[in-house]
Amino acid sequence: MERLTDISAVRELLSRHGFTFSKALGQNFLVNPSVCPRMADAAVQSRATDAPIGVIEIGPGIGVLTKELLLRADRVVTVELDRRLLPVLDETLGDFDNLKVVNADVLALDLHRLIADELGGREVVVCANLPYYITSPVIMKLLEDRLPINSITVMVQKEAAVRLCAEPGTRDSSAITAAVHYYCDPKLLFHVSAGSFLPAPKVDSAVIQLRLREPAVHPEHEETFFRVIKGAFAQRRKTVLNSLSSSLSLDKNAVRDILKAAGVDESARAERLTLGDFARISDAVDLHQRAESPLHPSTEE
Ligand code: SAM
Repeated sequence: MERLTDISAVRELLSRHGFTFSKALGQNFLVNPSVCPRMADAAVQSRATDAPIGVIEIGPGIGVLTKELLLRADRVVTVELDRRLLPVLDETLGDFDNLKVVNADVLALDLHRLIADELGGREVVVCANLPYYITSPVIMKLLEDRLPINSITVMVQKEAAVRLCAEPGTRDSSAITAAVHYYCDPKLLFHVSAGSFLPAPKVDSAVIQLRLREPAVHPEHEETFFRVIKGAFAQRRKTVLNSLSSSLSLDKNAVRDILKAAGVDESARAERLTLGDFARISDAVDLHQRAESPLHPSTEE
C-alpha cells in the first residue's frame, strides 16, 4: 500500500482485516501526510554521533510513522500491544528488512535487553505517536530505566506537552515537569490538530522532543528526591509545608526545619520550586531521617 495517510485506503485496509478501533488502547491513527515525515526527520536529526541510527517506536498502528522511520534509520524496532495489527503491519511494511515488530506491552518490556539484542552498536532514539492513556508512565519508564538512548520524540496531548515542557518553578509545572527536566532538555517542536487523526480525538496534540543528558542537579539520594517532588505536588494548592508534612508523614515542625535548612519559603507552592530547591529539600529530609534513626550507620558511634 503506497499511502498510509489516504483515508479511504486506510479504511479499506482496516475493514479487510476486520479491524475496529479500540478507544481503550488510544488508537487514533495519523492521516495527515506532513506529520510523520517531520517527526521522523526530527528524531533522526537529534543524533549526536555518526553511528548507524536505531529507533524504538511504541505503538505503530498500521505503520504510518514506522514507514518514515524505516526510510531514514538503519533499523527500527516497534512495540505494538494489539495483536490484531500484526497482520496489517505485515501487509503494509512486509517489504522492509530493517524492521522488527515486537508484540508486547511497552510498560512490561525490558527495554535494556531489547536495545542490547536488537539495536547493539547503534545510536538509539525513541520516536512514537504515544497512546495518550499511558503518556506519563511511558515517558517516566524511558527516563528512569536509564536507557542508552539519545532522544525521545513523541506526539502527546497538547496539555501534556505544555506540562512536560514547562520550566520548573512556573505555573504550568507539575511533578512530571520536574522529573523530565532532571533527566533532559524538553522542547515543543510543533502542534498537530485533532483533524490529523482517524478517528479524530477530542483534543489537539503536539510533538515534543526530550534530549537526554546528565542529571541537572545532584541530590544525595534520587529516591528521596522523587519522593519529595511527588509529595510536594500531591496537593498542589497547599503550601509546600502542608503538602510535604502530609505526604512524607512528618510533623510540621520537622518539615519547617527541613525547609529552613534547604532555604525554601514554607508558604511557597510546589509549582514555584526549582530543581535546586527540590534537591536541597531532599538532602535535608535525608539528614533529618538519619538524625531520627538511631540504627542508621552515620549515627552509630
Ligand atoms: N503510530 C500510529 C499512528 O501514528 O497512526 C498509531 C498511534 S496510536 C495513537 C497508539 C498505538 O499504540 C496503537 O497502535 C495502540 O494499539 C498502541 N498501544 C496502546 N497501548 C500500548 C502499549 N501498552 N504498548 C504498546 N503499544 C500500545
